[in-house]
Amino acid sequence: MRTVCILGSTGSIGQNTLDVIRRHPDKYRVHSLVAHRRVETIYAQCLEFRPQYALMSDPDAAAALSQKLKSTDIQVEVLSGLTDSEGLVSSSNVDIVMAAIVGAAGLLPTLAAVKAGKQVLLANKEALVMSGALFMDAAREYQAKILPIDSEHNAIFQSLSTSVQSGEQSPIDAGIQKLLLTGSGGPFLHTPLEQFPELSVQQAVAHPNWSMGQKISVDSATMMNKGLEFIEARWLFDVQPNDIQVVIHPQSMIHSMVQYVDGSVIAQLGQPDMRTPIAYGLAYPERIEAGVAPLDFTKMLDFTFTQPEQARFPCLYLAIEACCLGQAASTVLNAANEIAVEAFLQQQIKFTDIAIIVEQTLTQQSLPDIQCIDDVLSVDAQARLLASQLRDQKAI
Ligand code: NDP
Repeated sequence: MRTVCILGSTGSIGQNTLDVIRRHPDKYRVHSLVAHRRVETIYAQCLEFRPQYALMSDPDAAAALSQKLKSTDIQVEVLSGLTDSEGLVSSSNVDIVMAAIVGAAGLLPTLAAVKAGKQVLLANKEALVMSGALFMDAAREYQAKILPIDSEHNAIFQSLSTSVQSGEQSPIDAGIQKLLLTGSGGPFLHTPLEQFPELSVQQAVAHPNWSMGQKISVDSATMMNKGLEFIEARWLFDVQPNDIQVVIHPQSMIHSMVQYVDGSVIAQLGQPDMRTPIAYGLAYPERIEAGVAPLDFTKMLDFTFTQPEQARFPCLYLAIEACCLGQAASTVLNAANEIAVEAFLQQQIKFTDIAIIVEQTLTQQSLPDIQCIDDVLSVDAQARLLASQLRDQKAI
């Protein structure tokens, strides 16, 4: 029996994780659930999974959850404030941490899980984008096992030999030539460019293949998501930006590929269903049933691949540029994007302003050398301030 702490339990990844765990009560027990303020959802999760702890970062939500649980016979200790999550993930009673808080808020709890040497199922890509080498150095130093949950990185990980997976052999020594990151192109792959300024939130979050939280759905529409994944891949697999190529594959069946020097390409295929990578991360190195329907190759139509257009997806190219510039630029890009996406979701700015705000923040923000997590947090805070000012200038 392995015990699991879920950071971001009420979100799309969190709920999918609980769905996989639900299928294997003999293998996994939920130790703790962490969320922000969706009280009804975490309350239902407490009733079903009976964790030892439930933490809400929002104090009012924590109080409301406590109140609701009083009228039940279950013993769940309710905690308030995200700082306490660092104690939860480090507990000796926790084996596996699912890092699925969205955005920069996930950085410190995820890093705490890494420093506690846990098996960390990494969905929160923003944490790695913000801190890159510092994050991976900590994983090596504290012997944390990082298992990528992002479907693309999970696919790449599955396409590597065990010696590369374990870090014993470098990708170059293993004959890897390129990591091919696939992306669907999102809902606006064929939308005429002149319609872009008027695209609505409803249109942007309606992903053709995947069902996800709002922020990552908008990131998929701009393809910033693929850009963040580009940076994530650079650190996770210890390769250079030139070793990564983004390919549009609208069918979302091939989740990514590894090209080797002998001409072989190894790909991982599956339904666009996050329960597959989640089950892989929970059970690694074994396999467990995930509730995902098998692929029926006789019913598949075309598999197509194209290059992403820069005019359509400027955010992707800004992210690649930031990756090449270094850590501070990646941190700034992530912060500016979070501010811009939130403003778009609140209907304060246009869809096309997201890329403009990110680009202007990247150009105007100084990019110091990053040595420690405090440097990351300081650059992140400065970039948020600047991006907020740019957002206010753009406000509709
Ligand atoms: P959701 O928006 O669906 O869920 C986000 C989760 O984070 C919720 O549980 C939310 O709590 C919690 N949360 C947000 N802010 C805080 C905070 N300040 N303190 C504590 N908890 C907080 O996001 P997704 O599940 O879609 O995505 C989660 C992460 O996984 C993201 O980094 C995303 O990029 C990544 N990812 C997601 C994929 C997907 O298919 N959804 C695929 C690959 C990666 P509450 O509900 O209470 O607000």
